[in-house]
Amino acid sequence: MSKSFDVVVIGGGPGGYIAAIRAAQLGFNTACIDEWKNEKGGPAPGGTCTNVGCIPSKALLQSSEHFEHAGHAFADHGIGLKDLSIDIGKMLGRKNAVVKQNNDGILYLFKKNKVSFFHGRGSFVKAAEGAASTGSGQGYEIKVAGAAEETVIAKHVIVATGSNPRALPGAPFDEELILSNDGALRIPAVPKKLGLIGAGVIGLEMGSVWRRLGAEVVVLEALPTFLGAVDEQIAKEAQKAFNKQGLKVELGVKISEVKTGKKGVTVAYANAKGEAQTLEVDKLIVSIGRVANTIGLNPEAVGLKLDERGAVVVDDDCKTNLPNVWAIGDVVRGPMLAHKAEEEGVAVAERIAGQHGHVNFNTIPWVIYTSPEIAWVGQTEQQLKAAGRAYKAGTFPFLANGRARALGDTTGMVKFLADAKTDEILGVHIVGPMASELISEAVVAMEFKASAEDIARICHAHPSLSEATKEAALAIDKRTLNF
Ligand SMILES: Cc1cc2nc3c(=O)[nH]c(=O)nc-3n(C[C@H](O)[C@H](O)[C@H](O)COP(=O)(O)OP(=O)(O)OC[C@H]3O[C@@H](n4cnc5c(N)ncnc54)[C@H](O)[C@@H]3O)c2cc1C
Repeated sequence: MSKSFDVVVIGGGPGGYIAAIRAAQLGFNTACIDEWKNEKGGPAPGGTCTNVGCIPSKALLQSSEHFEHAGHAFADHGIGLKDLSIDIGKMLGRKNAVVKQNNDGILYLFKKNKVSFFHGRGSFVKAAEGAASTGSGQGYEIKVAGAAEETVIAKHVIVATGSNPRALPGAPFDEELILSNDGALRIPAVPKKLGLIGAGVIGLEMGSVWRRLGAEVVVLEALPTFLGAVDEQIAKEAQKAFNKQGLKVELGVKISEVKTGKKGVTVAYANAKGEAQTLEVDKLIVSIGRVANTIGLNPEAVGLKLDERGAVVVDDDCKTNLPNVWAIGDVVRGPMLAHKAEEEGVAVAERIAGQHGHVNFNTIPWVIYTSPEIAWVGQTEQQLKAAGRAYKAGTFPFLANGRARALGDTTGMVKFLADAKTDEILGVHIVGPMASELISEAVVAMEFKASAEDIARICHAHPSLSEATKEAALAIDKRTLNF
């Protein structure tokens, strides 16, 4: 006998598991199907984010930052260390433990919220009798291929099957020499020389980890500008800091061939001037973007529409072309970010319940967890210029912030962009310490359509990095107090 549910979520990443919890909170009989396996073959819900993305990368960034501080910054504080060493096995073990805590946490949350969890691959079988045409009734039949094979019937289906790393043509991932994010998070020893193709968020974070641990890192990027999506002034400041750290980034390259051999990987490419170059590295991380994943979902069985890139086609409300079938997160359009996936998950569950689920794409924050961290929300200066919008800009450097000086981390700035007439905040861009945390204030402000003056008039704790945010807001009207 098949089990029937009001809502079945396929995929237990940040989009899927959050959608399942919210649906259960709203009183729906809910199931979540996820196929990710841990090393022992057991369930490991949390998707890319928990297993090979956000969480393990931040665990390694933390370990490598401690190592770098111990080697370079502690002496300034009068702390002496002899024989500093790093045990990569232990560092990776800690990262794995952090991942497991998160996997187990999700299983606990499923139990707490009475979400039925199925470990296995979910695929569409057919629209169950009468449901697809009427938008009501039994819905869809879904096969779960796990340790045993089961069938579930869903009135509503939320597809949250995520994404996979894109490989370079002719250079498939072997996770030994040519690494995706998966292999990049479990390199067993610090490589002498590490190549990286793609200077995006993931590439820069992975490059930072292994550079801090002692690898010589060379990044090859096809685009002619560094971090093209980031506000130009902020990107320039970050590039200066990365250069100083020894992270080599070559822009405007065209890769022609990637060959693996006994000694490592050889990359043949043309540089920005069109000159032929070769790069020999011990390992190569390829991070040139991600592709929507519908492998094994069997969308054809029900006629679920995909676009030419393989993403599930959805409207602004995450509705697909099929009644009662929704899709969220990396498998649909929009930024591939865990918090975007989560917000869509909550919104869809609420829409199923007849509520007005809402995701504001204009206030989705972006963060790059390098050091300095880079974070932003809203529009960049180059976007405002291109749109012909009259704006005012204000910046404040961390160099003039007391807390940043005490921390010993004065790189970077906070930058505000506000409408020239109304003073409404249009974008906030931060490069510097704890940018990932500081950006929240700007997100809240923009959600409430605050003006720069609103932030400038709010009392901020002293000494805190957030005072740089207030000062950047004051800078909009050229009235900073500490610079
Ligand atoms: C190295 C790295 C670092 C990142 N860091 C950040 C960060 O700091 N912040 C941020 O916001 N984002 C980050 N991301 C992006 C983030 O991980 C994704 O945007 C997010 O995981 C997308 O969530 P999702 O739920 O859509 O899909 P996923 O997390 O990919 O989850 C999809 C799940 O569905 C399962 N699945 C797929 N098909 C089926 C099927 N047919 N049946 C059953 N299960 C199936 C998969 O096994 C997986 O568990 C990072 C990504 C990488 C690779």
